[in-house]
Amino acid sequence: MSKSPALSAGSGGRHPTEAAQTVTQDQAEDLVHLIAARAGLAEPPHVKWVAGVSGWVRPTRKGIRLSLGREILADEEDTRFTIAHEIGHIVRGHTDWRTVRRSFAWLAAIGLIMRGPRGLALEGFGPALAILVQRPLIRRIKQPQELEADDFAAQQQCPLTARLVERYQENDCKETAGTARLLSWAYPTHPSWEARASRQ
Ligand SMILES: [Zn+2]
Repeated sequence: MSKSPALSAGSGGRHPTEAAQTVTQDQAEDLVHLIAARAGLAEPPHVKWVAGVSGWVRPTRKGIRLSLGREILADEEDTRFTIAHEIGHIVRGHTDWRTVRRSFAWLAAIGLIMRGPRGLALEGFGPALAILVQRPLIRRIKQPQELEADDFAAQQQCPLTARLVERYQENDCKETAGTARLLSWAYPTHPSWEARASRQ
């Protein structure tokens, strides 16, 4: 499998005219191994390809799983940034069981408080109240992690570029489902694209 030179992270120089080139799964997985090795990870995450866009990491009993949406392969910059950002989460310790457990412990505690001493769910106001209490907490715990992962990607020469931000914003706009928007309002795990772009 010949490797695209532009896909070798840190090979230097941008290739704007090649931005739309298609990346193969093998090339993307090579990049995962390259960045993981360079970051000194004892073990690269195991990649699982899924439908859709974006990527996410989570610890499993067999190690860390990196799920990648096949649609990122349509765009080289998207592939590079998504992979480097997700590995950034691993390198910065966001997928450590301790960190994950702590985040869940917060949410579970809030859930219990909102349920009330007699399981009254605060007469229907529970969910709304829970969301209002959770929002600032999620912001505080999750959003700095996203910025750290972005910084890591930039250090790997796989940055969140202005063109990518535009692309992601367009995708967000296409997401017409009201529930998706409501969910991202209720669970603001990610800073706005503007805030993330302004750091690059
Ligand atoms: Zn992230």
